[in-house]
Amino acid sequence: MSKKRIVVTGAGGFVGHHLSKYLVSQGYWVRGVDLKRPQFSKTACHEFKILDLREKKNCLKATKDMEEVYALAADMGGMGFIDSNHATILYNNSLINLFTIEAARLNHCRRLFYTSSACIYPKYKQTSTQVTPLKEEDAYPADPQGAYGWEKLITERMCLHYREEYGLETRIVRFHNIYGPEGAWKGGREKAPAALCRKIALAKFSGKPEIEIWGDGEQTRSFCFIDDCVVGIHKLMRSEHRDPLNLGHDQLVSINQIVDIIASAAGIAVKKKYIEGPQGVRGRNSDNTRLREVLGWAPQISLEEGLRRTYHWVEERVRQEIPRDRRG
Ligand code: NAD
Repeated sequence: MSKKRIVVTGAGGFVGHHLSKYLVSQGYWVRGVDLKRPQFSKTACHEFKILDLREKKNCLKATKDMEEVYALAADMGGMGFIDSNHATILYNNSLINLFTIEAARLNHCRRLFYTSSACIYPKYKQTSTQVTPLKEEDAYPADPQGAYGWEKLITERMCLHYREEYGLETRIVRFHNIYGPEGAWKGGREKAPAALCRKIALAKFSGKPEIEIWGDGEQTRSFCFIDDCVVGIHKLMRSEHRDPLNLGHDQLVSINQIVDIIASAAGIAVKKKYIEGPQGVRGRNSDNTRLREVLGWAPQISLEEGLRRTYHWVEERVRQEIPRDRRG
């Protein structure tokens, strides 16, 4: 039997790289597409194309002869990046998604998987640290926090309408803070878990155990380890569920608690210094009721285990960058 041919866009990025590896292990023939190759290890893709997906002709090349599309490419980063690049994000991601979906239709791809985000949920549902977990139907009336969330919401609508009007089968996931090794860990695009791992590793090596935290550290979130994420993506793609679905952990933690878990993985005690910085909404958690119903599954890897693995990966990167004579 010939292998199913699929394309993963954003295959040079964090989730796309892990997903490509997982899909190859499941027996697919995988084409990866991105502006860049994966930064930390070799791609598992059978073919890798460097293409700018803000151009329609490139989206047509990316999806040509592919049965299925996993559309992950996006201009994105952590709260610092998302909070200060609204116009850029809206422009780049709208073009990428409009053209990817249209190209999938024109090339007669059968299925398209779209990675939306918990950032689509309205601000007014996320005002306290002890927030009620967000159900899929909480998305409306819409009031996402920024352009990143608005663009994701519009693309969700595109997916629904392309299915209704053209019969392109679409699957839509809403990620809640995916983290793990081989993600951005410095440079401004890293997200909270990786940034905190870096700060704690630096504190460990410098012998100055104080780290800076944006806000009071009481803001809450849930975090899902990458190995669970790729399993969930594949299960959803193979399911017949057509509406957007949360994919995240439902263990609510504060940033202060995350710091304590990482510090314990590092084997040090850290002092927290609170500074001004973008924090996003006050609290956010995933309601996984529908995820369990639809997939008969939910993320398995504990936060402690996921953060331990992530910390040790980041610590190794930091160790390689700090000259021996500057270590404490
Ligand atoms: P990432 O930044 O690591 O990967 C995105 C990739 O898209 C990058 O490699 C980037 O080079 C590529 N890209 C950007 N512009 C492009 C262009 N014009 N043409 C081709 N490729 C381009 O991000 P990620 O964490 O792997 O996220 C993957 C997807 O999941 C994104 O759509 C993101 O919005 C979504 N998502 C991620 C999270 C999370 O916690 N990681 C949460 C919610 C949603």
